[in-house]
Amino acid sequence: MSKQSPHIPFAPVLLDPAAEEMVPRHNLSEAGIDLEGVRRLSKRFHGFLPSARLQVLIAESELTGPAEADLTASMAKGVLRLTGEVSCPVRQACARCLVHFDSRLRAEVERAFVPGNDPAEADSQQEMVEEITYLPDYHLAIASVIEEELLLALPMIPLCKPDCAGLCPDCGTDRNREKCHCHPANQESPFAVLKNFNKV
Ligand SMILES: [Zn+2]
Ligand SMILES: [Zn+2]
Repeated sequence: MSKQSPHIPFAPVLLDPAAEEMVPRHNLSEAGIDLEGVRRLSKRFHGFLPSARLQVLIAESELTGPAEADLTASMAKGVLRLTGEVSCPVRQACARCLVHFDSRLRAEVERAFVPGNDPAEADSQQEMVEEITYLPDYHLAIASVIEEELLLALPMIPLCKPDCAGLCPDCGTDRNREKCHCHPANQESPFAVLKNFNKV
């Protein structure tokens, strides 16, 4: 009668130092955790992921180096928590001025996994509390998590700088570098008209 349902602890899981297994910085391509029958676990994944695999997923941006990851996995009360940071150097074309610029994608990782199948609506209350990824094959592939997190960190509209002035739609001048003299009215914010409403 001991039907196990995953409990979601709200307090952070304390690492048991004796159980912590330190993995040196290494290639994480094949790194993973098998969770069949595992009740307690603490493991650190500090290493890199070669950019080749990730580059396939991110066609429009050039990855200029390997992804770096420092993740800690801890299993307690049926939930595997994965926390840490992933990052990757990337070269993108600015959506406004088309200049290529280098930056670093970064993502804070805070994920929760439960080995086994999604109990679906049986635990609907729980689902509202925290987003959980179920692992039907009892295996967590670290490389997949790194890829997912970096894909999500990729900006939808890459900008070389937040206030990039972009190209003039009429003459193509890069307005970050020089001013052009086409239709100054067009360069006004489309919201300028709203200012006048406020003045009434
Ligand atoms: Zn720009
Ligand atoms: Zn112009």
